[in-house]
Amino acid sequence: MLGKGCNFDAFHLAWVEIWGLEVSPKVRHFLWRLCTSTLPTRALLKARHVIDNAVCSWCGKEEETSSHILFDCERSRELWEDSGCASLIEDISGTMCDMVVRWKATNVKKQQRAANLIWLLWAQRNLWVFDGKATPNGLLLSRLDRLSEEYGKYNSMIYKPMQP
Ligand SMILES: [Zn+2]
Repeated sequence: MLGKGCNFDAFHLAWVEIWGLEVSPKVRHFLWRLCTSTLPTRALLKARHVIDNAVCSWCGKEEETSSHILFDCERSRELWEDSGCASLIEDISGTMCDMVVRWKATNVKKQQRAANLIWLLWAQRNLWVFDGKATPNGLLLSRLDRLSEEYGKYNSMIYKPMQP
């Protein structure tokens, strides 16, 4: 089951994969928290006796584990489908590390898009929990496009050789 800790080898491979993604440092850091099971989901807060009820902030039906809120909850599922990245989360057996490592087999742009989407989903979850607000899916998807484009540009600016 996703959300469990990763063994050392999977951990190492996942780290290499996350490090290689063309995403901003905050997205990379977020993925790392996901792989180390340190995202403050309601399930984690309940396990730490911070809250009593671990039910999902969005659907109010299932337990809010990171895999539920980011991959399985209805709103997340819709966005995975609409963003064209659903194939990356078809197999969510094993740990989060295993899943990230499996991404290597797909197109790098798609991996980048999926990483940005996970980060946006968590930000949406927080916006809902703390401010009671939600961004329409269409707007979120154009934000996803922009995020991926911007980081591509930023990267090529940094790595472009100096002009004489
Ligand atoms: Zn839910």
